[in-house]
Amino acid sequence: MLNPLIIQFILGLISILFAEVVRDFYHIAGHYWQPIKQNHLLHHKAYRPDFSIANMELYKKSQLYNDVPEALCMVGLGAVLALVTQSPGMWLGCIYSIAFLVPAFLRSQGMLLATDLSHKPGDLVGIPAQWRVNRTYHWRHHFDEKNAYYAGHFTSVDRLIGTSLSLKGKVVAVTGASGTLGQALIDELSSQGAKVVAITTNPTSIFEPEVKVISWKLGAEIELLPQLQDVDILIVNHGVNVYGDRSHAAIYESYEVNTFSTLRLAELFFQTVTKSSDTATKELWINTSEAEVNPAFSPLYELSKRTLGDLITLRRLNAPCIVRKLVLGPFKSQLNPAGIMSARWIAWATIALAKRDFRDIIVTINPLTYLIFPVKEFCQSWYFKLFTKGMKKVDRVNINAEKSIS
Ligand SMILES: [Zn+2]
Ligand SMILES: [Zn+2]
Repeated sequence: MLNPLIIQFILGLISILFAEVVRDFYHIAGHYWQPIKQNHLLHHKAYRPDFSIANMELYKKSQLYNDVPEALCMVGLGAVLALVTQSPGMWLGCIYSIAFLVPAFLRSQGMLLATDLSHKPGDLVGIPAQWRVNRTYHWRHHFDEKNAYYAGHFTSVDRLIGTSLSLKGKVVAVTGASGTLGQALIDELSSQGAKVVAITTNPTSIFEPEVKVISWKLGAEIELLPQLQDVDILIVNHGVNVYGDRSHAAIYESYEVNTFSTLRLAELFFQTVTKSSDTATKELWINTSEAEVNPAFSPLYELSKRTLGDLITLRRLNAPCIVRKLVLGPFKSQLNPAGIMSARWIAWATIALAKRDFRDIIVTINPLTYLIFPVKEFCQSWYFKLFTKGMKKVDRVNINAEKSIS
């Protein structure tokens, strides 16, 4: 039997979670429910893109008519929950909510402005956090897409309803665009309102007229740099499978295509993250494949993809933007007619999981991958974190200096 005090403590934590869910649904209502929509719009008008206050009178009004009622709703529903459940622990959520109500009221009187932590003015520092809302996360709600990124403190509601990433109007570039999965990703991204750029080494491939096509050559990745500047999300999806070939040429081709060209593109894309807003909106997705942790019955494919996966794990420890790994199982294509899953379904699931902010997107029918991959990724990340050093600011400046010379 659990100690009754521990039970009340757990109930208290649940009531805090409940208060945050109320906050998020009040916020969503502020975007869709007419009676409170005007008041919530005041909140959006109160800030400039660097989160400085646009107009003090408007700011105070937004606190009084948006933040105060929001906190009142949290307090009120928290009290109802505590009364209905008759559990003293549940009052913790109420006290927690009062801690937001009082500062919101004082801010509406022009006091304690520094307590408005998720709207602290200045450049964005760090990438959007995955579990708790930070400034960069919330910035996207104000200045990227108002109908997404609703979460106020914990990101759980956004993750549940699929509003952790908005693709509407985003420029998304896909390499390996003429392959079966590339085509399926392009269709799915277009249906989500993204402006898709197909990056292909095959000049004869045909795309829908709204898709911008860029051709490139292996080894000449640097030539893509000007086009990558305007890209919000780069999906590096190209690869080669030499199957049973174990010749010298097959080894080099596998590593050159699957590992090094992907890494070069990743580094080029990182160089395009220069503005404060890029930290919030730019993302790099790398298709490392399920071969990272499971046999693909093609040793050179596994070796080159595992090296890529390991290096991405290392590099994303201090990447300037969000990096997602796509860990995908085999799918039916011309190259692999025995594949069980369809590329279309994989593309749909990949996007659905990205919209729920999975940084490691696993889509496969092999249950072992869901168990092994997260453990491998967690342990390896920590191993790399402990035994490598982060890039210093000076190094970044040098990279940019080199870029301007070339
Ligand atoms: Zn809003
Ligand atoms: Zn806000």
